[in-house]
Amino acid sequence: MPRDPRQLLHDIFGFPAFRGVQEAVVARVMAGQRTLAIMPTGAGKSLCYQLPAVALEGCCVVVSPLIALMHDQLRAAQAVGIRAASLTSVDADWRETQARYRDGDLDLLYVAPERASGEGFRSLLRSAPPALFAIDEAHCVSEWGHDFRPDYRLLRPLLDAFPDVPRLALTATADAHTRTDILHQLGIAADGMIISGFDRPNIRYAVHPRDGFTAQIADLLATQPGPGIIYAQTRAATEKMAASLSAKGRREVRAYHAGLDPAVRSANQAAFIASEDMVMVATVAFGMGIDKPDVRFVAHAGLPKSIEGYYQESGRAGRDGEPAEAHLFWGAEDFARARQRIFELEEARQGGERTRIAALGALVETGGCRRAVLLRHFGEDPPATCGNCDNCLSPPASIDATETARKFLSA
Ligand code: ADP
Ligand code: MG
Repeated sequence: MPRDPRQLLHDIFGFPAFRGVQEAVVARVMAGQRTLAIMPTGAGKSLCYQLPAVALEGCCVVVSPLIALMHDQLRAAQAVGIRAASLTSVDADWRETQARYRDGDLDLLYVAPERASGEGFRSLLRSAPPALFAIDEAHCVSEWGHDFRPDYRLLRPLLDAFPDVPRLALTATADAHTRTDILHQLGIAADGMIISGFDRPNIRYAVHPRDGFTAQIADLLATQPGPGIIYAQTRAATEKMAASLSAKGRREVRAYHAGLDPAVRSANQAAFIASEDMVMVATVAFGMGIDKPDVRFVAHAGLPKSIEGYYQESGRAGRDGEPAEAHLFWGAEDFARARQRIFELEEARQGGERTRIAALGALVETGGCRRAVLLRHFGEDPPATCGNCDNCLSPPASIDATETARKFLSA
């Protein structure tokens, strides 16, 4: 008999109640129904498979795109007493993990997509079919998504080899195209989709035409207390900006990008997590899987890659529900560069990229509510004004948007 989800929520995870659509997702999974859960970052997607993993007889196989992300989750799961392991290129204990799987000694098995699709893994699963397949960051399966991983395409044959095992796909970042594509690619029916609300009412959005980033961001740092993240566009830019912001102000500012020495990188990350007012200048590599609820502001020094990316990155602010700010600094040259990138893509992917850039153009150039633009992008039907973005708080005098984005896109 599966154990009662509410009781487990309390006993294992220590939470008094489910949040948002979690309960509905868990109920579908426990009933063996294929499901696509679309929930914003921080909404608690992991619990939607971790809880059934404990409740159900058998092991839940979790596919996740990044080893670092996987290991963070693994540690968190183990910390609450869940029997969890991973099979990735950096794990040394494959034999032991495989033996534990066969012996029914695992609740959760994290695996990278390129491993999951291999014959070795499939035969391991044949020894004892899993209780659930969870496909985290499921937008990676779609070329429409902003983070396509070809390895995700190889998962389908594995899933289909176990047609009776329920599948749960999870993502924060799906526009209508990507959603439909995920359903199709992973063999989930359209009525198996559960979408939760995307609004983050405590985040105040503001967009600024750029005029020398560093001075603008130094001003921001001077007035905005609390821990903050500044997303810069290149590794070099993070280091340069961190150095000049450190020189200008009294706050501790550090850099973070995937090219840093691993020891420095993890020291900077740990310092940020512990700090109450540190600022991290980072590439988008920073933040995934980092659980720091009290980030008070996120600033983008330059155009993000997509609305999904923007939503996800800015969404790292204010996870504690307290007031937080998201600032986006952009310039016409960002669109010129984006357009250049489109031409460098293979043709099949140009359309998706064009759509993404146009959506960003609409966000930065609107004279109306920023939140409404964001939420409409995620398929919601928000009120015309939110009262908590730059345009709602001080409506622009006239709506003669600069047209910069459109000009660059249509040229
Ligand atoms: P996501 O993958 O959707 O971005 P996570 O699964 O990483 O989110 O969860 C974000 C945070 O929310 C974690 O700290 C998690 O422990 C917490 N959380 C999840 N579910 C609940 C809940 N029902 N009540 C309170 N906190 C929760
Ligand atoms: Mg997650």
